[in-house]
Amino acid sequence: MTQRVYNFSAGPAVLPLPVLEQVAREMLALPGVGASILEISHRSGAFLPIIEDAEKNLRQLLSIPDDYAVLFLQGGGRLQFSMVPMNLLAPGQVADYILTGSWGNDALKEAKKAGQTRIAWDGKAAHYDRLPSREDLDLEPQAAYVHFTSNETIQGVQFAAEPEVGDVPLVCDASSDFLSRPLPIRKYGLLYACAQKNAGPAGVTVVIIRKDLLKRSDPKLPGYLNYDVHAQNNSMWNTPPTFSVYVLKLITEWLLGDVGGLEAMHARNKEKARLLYDEIQRSGGFYAGHAQPNCRSLMNVTFRLPSDELTAQFVSEAKQRGLTELKGHRSVGGIRASIYNAMPTAGVEALRDFMEEFRRKNQE
Ligand SMILES: *Cc1c(COP(=O)(O)O)cnc(C)c1O
Repeated sequence: MTQRVYNFSAGPAVLPLPVLEQVAREMLALPGVGASILEISHRSGAFLPIIEDAEKNLRQLLSIPDDYAVLFLQGGGRLQFSMVPMNLLAPGQVADYILTGSWGNDALKEAKKAGQTRIAWDGKAAHYDRLPSREDLDLEPQAAYVHFTSNETIQGVQFAAEPEVGDVPLVCDASSDFLSRPLPIRKYGLLYACAQKNAGPAGVTVVIIRKDLLKRSDPKLPGYLNYDVHAQNNSMWNTPPTFSVYVLKLITEWLLGDVGGLEAMHARNKEKARLLYDEIQRSGGFYAGHAQPNCRSLMNVTFRLPSDELTAQFVSEAKQRGLTELKGHRSVGGIRASIYNAMPTAGVEALRDFMEEFRRKNQE
């Protein structure tokens, strides 16, 4: 087998090794089926239990109540930037957006094409290194919904708890921290996540929506863009992304089995992030964290080195050690280490050790 690196990619990202091994074992023929997951009908007796188990396992992991629907869609996080306002924002209404980084801004850009929006808070002046306090939020009590991004993948800032928005439905882009911790689903009107950061391969996006909100979907919307159509058809209105749903199902089994649930996953994630933030803290300014300490992401650890030369050297020396994809997003610069669920603690320890050694060699 080819040597696997420690892959710190922001997405598509590392997947659990036992899941990849199972996919490899079953690739030519699913047990009892005699054909590959890539070759079978989405309406076959072989696939239906796969998508049903994926939903059942998500419901168990997140304690999703019965009055919420779980949808498996395509089009990624970005299609949700459009579907959310197309379905939930009626003419004459307004939607509030909390902007804590690049993805929230992109969500707002699409929403503006569909209806009227407001900005409830914008962290731009501080380069998106922080989150709003409750008092900072300027909310419209009659808004159709409030949208926020639980984890800003590029800047590395993450809400530890949901913003308080009263009775207005809370809509969350949870693309980069979905399944990394338990969530109080009742606080949400709608939550969406593309899978390829933390929950599976690219191609499937999970939408969890409170069923009363399905009534808002205008029947004149194109069928694919209508949440109610997907809910009525159990995500089978058209062919769902069968392979991606299958891998997502295996990941939910890994979380329920090997990992022991989302509390345990969250504890592991906190410990991994602590290893890196402690090294940043110890470095005496050599590594400068982007996010303020009280809103640091457990998923994407962002920091800068004293110069672009040292940053480039860091990335290239790390790569020689089998620590890859550490270059920060072009809009923020520096380093970004994405340490999603499937990144083993050993990988984070290897990065921490490298950071320490690199600092000793290069600190003035
Ligand atoms: C990656 C990401 C997206 C975009 O997802 P696509 O599937 O590429 O459309 C949206 N929001 C967040 C927070 C992300 O990290």
